[in-house]
Amino acid sequence: MAFPRWFIDDVLARTSLVEVVGRRVAYDRRRSNPARRDFWACCPFHDEATPSFHVEEDKKLYHCFGCGKSGSAITFLEETEGLTREEAVKRLAEGAGLALPTPRQSAGARAEADARAALATVMERAATLYAGELWGPRGAAARSYLERRGLSRPLAEAFGLGLAPDAWSHLHDALTRGGTPPGVLEAAGLVRPRRSGSGFVDLFRNRLIVPIHDMRGKVIAFGGRALDPAEKAKYINSPETPLFHKGEVLFNLHRAGPHARRSGRLIVVEGYMDVIALARAGLPEAVAPLGTALTAAQGKRLFQIAREVVLMFDGDAAGRAAAARALATLLPDLGAQTRIRVARLPDGQDPDDVVRAHGPQAIAEVLAAAEPLVEALWTNALGAVDIADPQGRQTLEARLTEEVGTIREPGLRHQFLAEFRARVRALT
Ligand SMILES: [Zn+2]
Repeated sequence: MAFPRWFIDDVLARTSLVEVVGRRVAYDRRRSNPARRDFWACCPFHDEATPSFHVEEDKKLYHCFGCGKSGSAITFLEETEGLTREEAVKRLAEGAGLALPTPRQSAGARAEADARAALATVMERAATLYAGELWGPRGAAARSYLERRGLSRPLAEAFGLGLAPDAWSHLHDALTRGGTPPGVLEAAGLVRPRRSGSGFVDLFRNRLIVPIHDMRGKVIAFGGRALDPAEKAKYINSPETPLFHKGEVLFNLHRAGPHARRSGRLIVVEGYMDVIALARAGLPEAVAPLGTALTAAQGKRLFQIAREVVLMFDGDAAGRAAAARALATLLPDLGAQTRIRVARLPDGQDPDDVVRAHGPQAIAEVLAAAEPLVEALWTNALGAVDIADPQGRQTLEARLTEEVGTIREPGLRHQFLAEFRARVRALT
């Protein structure tokens, strides 16, 4: 019997990988760091005298830098004990005290996986159709809009841009003619029932379409920018669906990831047009949250990929407030190895404005001048108080103490607290 994915995830989450591997190897005490749940040993798969076998409990993964073997507690048992995958999962489930799923639960998981696959297929079809419209005879107005924004065809194609024509049910009609049931289109968030009468209307109409992908590069949602300047909702996104949980997804992360792993840096901007503007300026490692404030889950993903995160939000009050909120969200997970900087854009401008008005060099300068975290926190806090007044200084210290008090890493928290205490004292 094949086990459903959720059960396997549960088994792995409740299994100590360090313990399972530790039954086979002796960890190197000097190199291992139990506080970070990070362990090293000589590899059980190849012959070596110095440890290159790395076990990370938090990621539930091992990797050998010598022979390249890597995997989970399941593959470890398969390879070291000669178990089948099912046997390995059963053994770990027993160890974790988990009951095996019933056949009915397994069937439910399969049905869910089938439903997700159907949604994924329809999202790909929709992306193809939207792209066809942009470059087809009806796309002239949208193409001239791209031209005015300085977006070349290769760049637009790299982002898979498309066009939802100015019609009530173009996508619905085209895809249902191709055999897609309307219910699947509705579940994918592409159509909604008409307010009056029966039938469906397209969610995206007369909009430039920006596909949103998961980490594997599969389309899971769309963003739509209004082409009619009179349209009240300038940007809309797909609703939450079984494929799309907007609080966990960052636009462009699947493309930015490989660049960020090389440069060690990810740039967070407010929206997808900013991401595209930075790509145009030769900065491919930019991502954006999708119509929400940056979430802790998104923050974790950023730091899994890059050690440095640069926030580059719009140069207006809303952008500055969003950057301050994002800092507060990222602070708890700050580690000794991670860096946060804040890039300040000129007043009233977003990254796209800067690139269009002053060219790629200007955005590179903004980036180079990005403030380190300690300065950004200090500047933000200073702006809110009157330092000539003792009560203002007291408020300043209390605010900074509260803010950096959320840093979980104790040594780092202590350093920030001491730094700000000293700075406040130096004001008098
Ligand atoms: Zn090895």
